[in-house]
Parts: sequence; C-alpha cells; structure tokens
Amino acid sequence: MLTPDATKEFTLITPDAAISEATHGGRAKCLQRLVRLNLPVPRSVALSFAAVHRVAEGRMADTPGLLSAFGPEPLVSVRPSSGDADWGGPGAILNIGMNDVRRDQLARSIGREAADGLYLKFIQTYASEVARLDPEPFEEAIEATDPLRAAMDAFEFEADEPFPQDPAVQLAEVLRSMARAWEGVSARLLRQARGAPVDAGLGLVVQAMAQGIGAGESGSGVIRMIDAKTGARQITGHYHRKRFDGNGLQREPLHLSSDPRGASMQEEAPEVYAELISVLETCRRNLREEMEVKFAVTGGKLMVLDAVRVARGARADVRVAVALAGEGIITPEEALLRVEPMSLTELLHTQVDPGAPRDVILRGIAASPGGATGRLVFSSHAAQTSASHELPCILVRRETTPEDIRGMHAAQAVITERGGMTSHAAVIARGLGLPCIVGASGLRISQRKKTLTTADGRVFVEGDIVTVDGTAGVAMAGEIEMLQPSLDTHFRTLMDWADVACDIGIRANADTPADARMAHTFDAEGIGLCRTEHMFFEQQRLTVMREMIFADNESDRSGALEQLLPMQREDFVELFRIMAGLPVCIRLFDPPLHEFLPHDREGMMALAESLDLPLSDVVRRVEALSEFNPMLGMRGVRLGVTVPGIYDMQVRAIFEATVEASRQAGAAVVPEIMIPLVSAKREVELVKTRIDAVAAAVKVETGRAFDYRLGVMVETPRAALRAGEIADHAAFLSFGTNDLTQMTYGLSRDDAGRFMGTYVSNGVFHEDPFHTLDKEGVGELLLIGAERGREARPDIVLSVCGEHGGDPDTIAFCRDAGFSYVSCSPFRVPVARLAAAHLALRSPRPARE
Ligand code: PEP
Ligand code: MG
Repeated sequence: MLTPDATKEFTLITPDAAISEATHGGRAKCLQRLVRLNLPVPRSVALSFAAVHRVAEGRMADTPGLLSAFGPEPLVSVRPSSGDADWGGPGAILNIGMNDVRRDQLARSIGREAADGLYLKFIQTYASEVARLDPEPFEEAIEATDPLRAAMDAFEFEADEPFPQDPAVQLAEVLRSMARAWEGVSARLLRQARGAPVDAGLGLVVQAMAQGIGAGESGSGVIRMIDAKTGARQITGHYHRKRFDGNGLQREPLHLSSDPRGASMQEEAPEVYAELISVLETCRRNLREEMEVKFAVTGGKLMVLDAVRVARGARADVRVAVALAGEGIITPEEALLRVEPMSLTELLHTQVDPGAPRDVILRGIAASPGGATGRLVFSSHAAQTSASHELPCILVRRETTPEDIRGMHAAQAVITERGGMTSHAAVIARGLGLPCIVGASGLRISQRKKTLTTADGRVFVEGDIVTVDGTAGVAMAGEIEMLQPSLDTHFRTLMDWADVACDIGIRANADTPADARMAHTFDAEGIGLCRTEHMFFEQQRLTVMREMIFADNESDRSGALEQLLPMQREDFVELFRIMAGLPVCIRLFDPPLHEFLPHDREGMMALAESLDLPLSDVVRRVEALSEFNPMLGMRGVRLGVTVPGIYDMQVRAIFEATVEASRQAGAAVVPEIMIPLVSAKREVELVKTRIDAVAAAVKVETGRAFDYRLGVMVETPRAALRAGEIADHAAFLSFGTNDLTQMTYGLSRDDAGRFMGTYVSNGVFHEDPFHTLDKEGVGELLLIGAERGREARPDIVLSVCGEHGGDPDTIAFCRDAGFSYVSCSPFRVPVARLAAAHLALRSPRPARE
C-alpha cells in the first residue's frame, strides 16, 4: 500500500495514487474510489492539506506544471476537499483557463452564445470570488448590449488591470483565494461550530471541465436514488439539457425518470439514464452509502464529475442506514453508528396536525421541527417563571444570545424576529429539540410592552396562547390539535438493533398512565421514576390533596387520605397493566407541601370556598405551613417520617394495586418502592417498618402473597457518603441527580437561572450542571455512593433518574461506573437507547448479567 505523500504538491488521482482522506480530504478520496470503480471521471488532480496551507502562506503552487497535467489549452474546475463536507468551505470555481482565445475555439464546437455565456460567468465568478471585487457592476453587465465586453471593462476598471488571460495566473489566483478563505477567521469559527477540529485542513481538487454542452445528447445535472427528506427509494435530482445543433443552443430542463408532467431523460436518452442508474448502484454497493452524483453528458458520453453523500435529515438517515444494512451492504452495527443519537429527536416530536383548522399569525424560517402550544413570554426570566408554575410557554425574542439558554430550556418553543438557519436560536433549539421559528418577517416585538405585533397589525400580549409549528415555520393563534410522533418500521428496526447492542438499561420517568403509554411506545425497559405527587395535579384530585394538607387533626387527614387511596390505586393498576410485567419504580410523595398551596389571596379564597372554611383559617394554615427554604424543608422522607399517614396510604395503594394487577395479568407484579430525599439510615428504617406493616396487612386482607423491592433515592450528599449503611435496607439506589446537583453545589434548582448564563459565559461552569452531569463533583459523589453501596451489598442495583439520565455523556459516565440503568423522560428514551448502543459498540464490555 502506498503511503500518502502530503509533501507532494500535486497528485494525479489514479487508482494507485497515494491519496487519503486525512491528507487530501473526503472529495479527493471519493474521486479516487470512483476512479477505482472504473467510472468515467474526468482527469483530476488533488492538492493536499499541506500544499494548500503553503499556498495560503504565500508560497505559490507551480500552476503551469499543474495545468500541464490537463493537456494543451485546458479548462479546469477547482473544488474544495475537506475532512467533512458539512464543515463548509469555498464554493467551486469552474472554467478556469477561459480567455479570449479559448472562447473563440469553443465557439466553433458549442456556438458563440454558449461560449460567451461560459466566459461571462467565469469573469463574474472570478471577479467576486477570486479578485473580491464588488459584484454589482458584473451583474449589471448582463443588461449591456455586449455583456462580455461590459464585464471585461468592469474588471479593468475595478481591478485596475485587464482580465488575466494566462490560465496559470488564473489558476494561481483561484488557489490562493480558496486557501485564504479557508484560513479566514469567520470560516474557521463556522466550521468549528460544526464540529471541525481547530487544525482542520483544506485540500483542493482540480478537474478537467466536462461542459455538458455539445451536439447530440448533452447536458448536466445531479442525481440521487433517494428522497433526501424521507430516505425513500426514488430517483431525485435534475438534468439540464444543453444541445448545440449548429445554429443555436437548445436549453431544456428534463425530468430524470419518466414523469407525466413532461419529458424525461429516461425516455429521451435511455442509454445515458441506464448508465447513470448503474453508476448510482455501483456507488451504493461499493461506497456503501447513498450518493449524490454530479454528472455531465457531452454528445451522449457520460462523465461523473463528483459524488457526495446525500445530505439528509434524521428520518432519511435512519431509513437509509436500515435499508443498507437490510441489503447486507453494511452491518446492523454500522447502521447504528451512522445515526447520531441526538438527531433522533427530529423523528420523535409532536407535530401540529396539518388537518386542524388554523389561524396563522406569523411565518418565518422553520428552524427546528415539532409543534408546541404555550403562553407567550418575552424574556428568559419570564419563561423560567412560567416553567416553575408548570405553565407551558413560547419564548419570543428579537434574537437570542447565550444568556437566553436557560429561558430556552424552560420554554416549549422559541420564535425570533431575526436570524437564519444557523443563528443562535436555531442552532440551540435544534440541539434541544425545541420547535423554533427564526427570521419571522414582518413581526414587531416590544420587550418593554411585552407585545408582539404581526405583519397584519394584530397585537398579542404576554400570556396569550399561541401554537408554534417549527416544522412548517408558522405560528398560529390559540391551541391546535397535535399529532403524536409516528415511529415507522425503519426506526423500530434500528431501535431493535440498538437494544441488542445496548449493555445498560434505559427506563423512562413516567408519572401518569399517559406517560407510561408513551414510555411503552418507546420501548423503555420499565419505569425508573414515577413521581407520585404529579398524579395530583388534576383539579379534582388537587382539592382532595389540599384537604389532606389542611387537615389539622388525624381524623380529618385520614378522611382525605381515604379519598386519595382509590385514585392512587387505580393509577398504579393502570401503570402495571401498561408496563406489562416490566419494572415500575414508584417514588413516595416528595415535594414540599407548599407547592400544593395557593400563594395569592384569590387562590386562598377559592380554597376556603372549596373546603368550606373561613378565609382566615386558610391564611393561617398556609402561613403555618410555609417554610423559609422549602426545597430543604419538610419534603421527601421527612414528610414520610413526620406525617406517616401519607406514605401508609401510598404503599397501601401500591400493594392493593399489585394484588389487582397480578390477578388481571395472571402473573406476579413486583413493585419497586423508592424513598426520596433520604439523608440518614434511620429514615429508611422507620419508613421500611411501616411499609412492611402495610404489606403484611394487605396480604392478610386480600389473602394474596406478593413481593416488593425497596430502594432509596440518593439525592443528598450525605446519602451518597453513607450509602454503605443505607444499602443495608435498600435493594437499589437511584441517584436523583437533580437534587444531588442542587445540594452538592448549594445551587437552587429554581433560582440558578438568574445567573447561570453569566456563570457559563464566564467559564465558571463549562455547562449548566442541571443539564449535563458535573462529573468532577456530583459525579464523584455518584462514584462514592456506588462503591460504598456495592461494598455493603454486592448485588445492589444502581441507576440515575435525574434529568441527566437522557444525556449521552451522562449515560457514558453511568455505564463506565457499572450502573444497571438510567431513566429519562419518555421522549429521550430512543436517544438514550441509541447513545448506549454507540457506547457498547465503540467500547464493548462483558455482557450484562
Ligand atoms: C432528582 O432530584 O434528581 C429527581 C429525580 O427528583 P425530582 O426531580 O422530582 O426532585
Ligand atoms: Mg429529587
């Protein structure tokens, strides 16, 4: 095998030439593959990264020598060849070598009109892209009686020298401008933002021009075998026929394959079409990828100018990967590795029902897919406040800045007045999987008045309900019906393969039967966290819940608890039924009670009415229950220990549901019960004693035996440090990294938003630790807790159920630490499954027991 020689200035692309992706870039390497496949590729020469870098530094390439590779009077194109086409780069420049003499020669074979057209286009491109002149005079030249003359004059006027006639000079200037463009600051920043390394190099490919103009079947185009949106097998692309019949040039756009709407290449030039299809098949089989082929046909002779991977969205990516693996072209493992886990969010989003009636209020660029309804808010702070009250919101900004990230996390969708596909809001929203519209033209936003005025003069104020369709780039007044994501067979196949590869469990956080159904749809391996307090947000239940909180004597409290019991039991039966034998981990009541209390006078009056109490009683009780620091107050197990009746009711509901669900299923259900916010072993002992007593009572009452598994949430640093002794009573430890992050940093989950932006932008935190696990601090507590827990109880099951559970980096951390599973929101489950499969494929470890 030849070793690529990066020091060599030019390398003719032949089957044996020393060319590699690492030294010459993807395009050069791909062209070599096409040459090796005996495809008709015009003569091409590759310039290595090193050679182009030397050009950028001012050491000019031997362009006369380079051109000599193309025979006398050549016309060539130059195209960029970097490590990854997605990093961007200078655009292609065609017809280098065009001058007065060449134009006259060409005129004889393709006619004066076409020759002049090519020359004019070259001058225009050269002027703006190479000589960096103002493009306007060259655009205006087209209007002149002699456009070519006008363009030449404009060049001489603007550049202070005549248009260069020497092809070697032209080529030298083209190479220099491309090399310099790559090294420019903005190009560098842009590609780094797209994942390019700091020292990413640029290679260039110089290729003999194949004009695709001439007598007989001639033209040029682009062809693919798939629909880039869906990945479905379908010929797409375009073909522009340019036939010279001696008198003039016949230009005609043709469909590629037979089409009832008009003439096609398939019907009019079937041999060329067949040849193209066979080129695509050859590429697909041998390059093991769906390729987009750029081609030219001259007098019936096909030339393949270039081939690149078809740029496509996540849906198509999944379909193509699965199809290639299905045909044995790649392995299922490769198919998995070809799909970026985070990109799956694109497939998973709720979409606005296209058939639902809609009142469109604004249009913009569809920057991030999905649909969401919420109340309008005009600042990140307002978005966070809205989220803290569990009110879905739509964040509207003129444009977003890094300070807005917290607000974007809190919002259901984002609209910006300015921006484009790669603006801050668009990039961040896509990363977060938030529906987003940018560049909403005609929109006027007043941050001060908190109003949004649409192009037709309608005014919307903060709090108004709006629906965003990020897939179509439109927003509508009011709430609109949504369609849940439809997960096609390709997606399901990929997910099945992921499960085979995956060696860490992925469960879902699901609080209600509806969540559980979603978790089941996404094939979660169970419920890792059911926040039971979320079962009480419904209005009717909330009232009973409040009665329970307000009870100031045992009998009133048990009266309320008795009402809550059947509600809980029904929900649990439903959860067990939906999850069909998969584990369901139920967390006992956790939040501070004040979250269930009204905060303003209006709310208190309503409560007084519903409880038939004097307002003064309600006010007094709310005051008595209020805490200075509720997050660190009477919540979680502290409530369980202090007001044990609540947990008694909950575990009774769980056990009665266990008996019922086991009876219905004809198989034993084994519930997992989890105690939140533990910091001392004794808390667990106290709760466990009561749970065991309730279990014994239910067994006697129902005459049925059942098992349950008791676990502890590690959410306080002390619980992590004392995991050894806590493990004595716990079959499993589930790290609640939300609270653990809050308590490790001493950082309020609800207030951190006020300074998180400043902290991240000043580099105090690399990232918001509530979104990406802080491996150094919180992570160390996880490791300590895991080690001490395991020491005391080697078979202890370890997991993470905080928001971090769906983050690929956190999954990697948990997997390395030997955790059994992570649990995340249902929509994140597929991302987590694929991310876990990637980890397992990239660094296999012995199979799970
Ligand atoms: C946690 O603290 O990580 C957790 C999962 O519980 P919650 O978010 O309900 O406090
Ligand atoms: Mg918690």
